[in-house]
Amino acid sequence: MTGTDQKDYYKALGVKKSASADDIRKAYRRLARKHHPDVNPGDKAAEDKFKTIQQAYDILKDQKKRDMYDQFGFYSEAGAYPGGGAAGRGPGGFDFSGFDFSGAQGGGAGGKQGHQEGGFSDLFSQFFRQDQQQAPRQAQPGEDLEYNVDIEFWDAIKGTTLRLNVARHEPCPQCRGGGNIGRGSVACAECNASGQVSQSVGAMRFNLTCPRCQGSGQLRDVCGQCAGEGRIYRNETVEVRIPPGAQSGSRLRVAGKGNAGQRGGPAGDLYIVTRVGSHPVFERKGDDIHMQIPITVPEAILGAAIEVPTIDGKARLKIPPATSSGKRFRLREKGVLNRRTNHRGDQFVEVKIVVPEVPDEASKAMMSEFANLNPEDPRAGLFE
Ligand SMILES: [Zn+2]
Ligand SMILES: [Zn+2]
Repeated sequence: MTGTDQKDYYKALGVKKSASADDIRKAYRRLARKHHPDVNPGDKAAEDKFKTIQQAYDILKDQKKRDMYDQFGFYSEAGAYPGGGAAGRGPGGFDFSGFDFSGAQGGGAGGKQGHQEGGFSDLFSQFFRQDQQQAPRQAQPGEDLEYNVDIEFWDAIKGTTLRLNVARHEPCPQCRGGGNIGRGSVACAECNASGQVSQSVGAMRFNLTCPRCQGSGQLRDVCGQCAGEGRIYRNETVEVRIPPGAQSGSRLRVAGKGNAGQRGGPAGDLYIVTRVGSHPVFERKGDDIHMQIPITVPEAILGAAIEVPTIDGKARLKIPPATSSGKRFRLREKGVLNRRTNHRGDQFVEVKIVVPEVPDEASKAMMSEFANLNPEDPRAGLFE
């Protein structure tokens, strides 16, 4: 309570006892800006000072209260207004509704407060920016969606049709994407049709243009099914044709199957990223196929014409005499058809010599004889 507090309110505001109402108002504005808690965060002294300034101004701005204060050295609500409240204001609550902030940007309060003024106007422009950001309720394009899809090895080569369950926004069937129904308007519930909302920041309260109705107090008759967004969220089965030759990482665009736009904006696209499954024999590397083929010791030594599997069926491969493990052969254009280049990749076949166990003495004798006839040391070069 300000009641018996014997503070010198003139001193608090830095004005003479003879100061005009206008001088008091100017002094208050200057000091309030300087000591405002939002300009001096965490500064308890500034906060106390600010409260004192507020109290002083509360009394001195009001001629009746000022007269009483001048006469008795204090002001008491009970004395001034027996039984009455203090103009609907709670103790300790600071009402800024009478405070004209427009002057803060004009620089009318003198150079010394330049810094604090900057802080203040920044503070306010921040709110107004925030206000504006919430304001636009116009058409907006929908977002693109991306789905990763695993497809079988053979489906990737031959192509397939997938039925995907895609969770996406789609145009609201009730308002056909517009967000409102009919041409009527309803009172804005945000501001009770007043066009203004009040906002509190610390101890300050001030009025802003209602962000929902932008100050008109009225809203278009908003569609109940989509709450005015013009789109609803639901699962949809989307049929996607995967063309032959899809690779791991292929990105397929399905136009218009992304999220619907807001309030009638265009829909985004759906992107399908494929991941090709593995196969026990064939390995996809882009458009090429890689595989290993086992050959026998005699085939490796003598050479042979063998059959190898390809994605089209069997193909013949000539193994030349003296083929070691790891030797790679290329079967041209036996890989996967690339739809973009209309060209097939290759198949690479790596031979792997399979050595049997030979428990019989005849085979062992034969190999010993083979070794005697072929004494070359394959490791000889390693020790030079
Ligand atoms: Zn709707
Ligand atoms: Zn409103």
